[in-house]
Amino acid sequence: MPQNANSHAKHYTHTPGKTSLEKELIESLSRFITFRWIMAGGIGTTVLFVTFALSITLPLQSILITTLCILIFNFFCTSYQKHVKSYETFANLQISADWLALVFLAHYTGGIESPVICYFIFHVIISAILLSKKKCYLQTTFALLLILILSMLEYFHIIPHVQVKELFPTPSYDKSLYLVAVLFFCVTSFYISAYLATSVNNRLRKRENEVVALKDSVTEAYNRLEALDREKSEFTFKVTHELRSPLSAIQSLLKSIEEGYAGEIPQKARNLILRSEKRTGLLIALVNDLLDLVSGKIGTIREGEIKHININEAINNSIQLLQEKAKAKEIKIAFESMQKPVFIRVIPEDLDLILTNLIDNAIKYSKKASSILIRSVVTEKTVTMEISDIGIGIGEEDIKRIFEEFYRADNAKEFELEGTGLGLSIVKNLMNRYKGSITVQSKLGEKTTFFVSFPV
Ligand code: ADP
Repeated sequence: MPQNANSHAKHYTHTPGKTSLEKELIESLSRFITFRWIMAGGIGTTVLFVTFALSITLPLQSILITTLCILIFNFFCTSYQKHVKSYETFANLQISADWLALVFLAHYTGGIESPVICYFIFHVIISAILLSKKKCYLQTTFALLLILILSMLEYFHIIPHVQVKELFPTPSYDKSLYLVAVLFFCVTSFYISAYLATSVNNRLRKRENEVVALKDSVTEAYNRLEALDREKSEFTFKVTHELRSPLSAIQSLLKSIEEGYAGEIPQKARNLILRSEKRTGLLIALVNDLLDLVSGKIGTIREGEIKHININEAINNSIQLLQEKAKAKEIKIAFESMQKPVFIRVIPEDLDLILTNLIDNAIKYSKKASSILIRSVVTEKTVTMEISDIGIGIGEEDIKRIFEEFYRADNAKEFELEGTGLGLSIVKNLMNRYKGSITVQSKLGEKTTFFVSFPV
């Protein structure tokens, strides 16, 4: 990447991974080509207007031929620009060709007296934008040389002077003082313009380099953080995975003791064992949630595992799975299914995890003997599942945080002791993986509706 603002143009080459400066030069070049179409059109129309509407005598044929040459050259530039190897050389070539065209136009419209000379300033500015400082000064010198050659050739009558009588009744091209004055004006105005334009451009380029460097370091830091986060997730995955088997073993051992496998145990000991068994169950739930969360983060979707799943069937299955839990709280689950089966592409286990987590929460945080409504809505681009319950609701401040890992709202902790605060993070991670979304609408102490949308 170029560090020096003055030397940026030297580094423009046709590489597949273009830097932002290269991209900018390519864009500027293509704007330059568009500008040339407009200029050529403008020259043609102006000349025709001046000749026929203002009755000013100009060598129409020569000017139109020059305009045609500009158009042909621009056509070549348009077609060639995609195959360019060095953009800087391409820019140099175009600017030099334009100087030549301008000198011809100046010659046909009065030589050193022609107002076309003023247009050279545009190209000085364009050179400052497209080229390095040094090249811009070289191009400006080239333009001045061309003007000098033209004026000398006319002055010494080596080429004929085209006089526009209507504009300049008395020719001045052969008056030395006039020539010196115009050339002085050209030299000073061209170089001052080149100096101002390159200074402004270099300052901008410097700022841009700083921004690019900053962006690069931010991207690098982000990538490093992402890699660290991944390492952390992989570590958590390994540890929790290792924890699951001994925890399950402890739970079944405690169950065996409680069932009398190791002989009669006093009631007090039984109560303690029951409490330990329950705690172990909670730990296993936490480990399972952690594993689901972490595998959602580190795992990538493997195409082979993705299936076309009928949404209605998946929802019905999840309801069946949680029916017992709902019955225990006398909660009715109603499902308004779509008439036609709708399919989404998803890994079945992921969809089950999403649905069971949300329905489980709805049961967990519902009032006793209330009802839960599940709906599925299809639009042109999405399939949305809505899970509504009438229960403790979620406060405005909590809504902002419930998708954070381990976050549980205070009213949830009071209402239901059991909970890891990981369920919604698992769902959110999975929805991100499928480029879907999860949102919630709720009012404290009233109704809560979760919306999960899959793209179709
Ligand atoms: P958990 O249910 O284990 O606490 P979740 O990640 O599933 O963890 O949910 C996070 C928090 O979001 C819950 O603790 C609760 O505060 C809130 N929440 C989720 N679902 C509901 C619901 N249906 N009604 C009210 N609050 C809910």
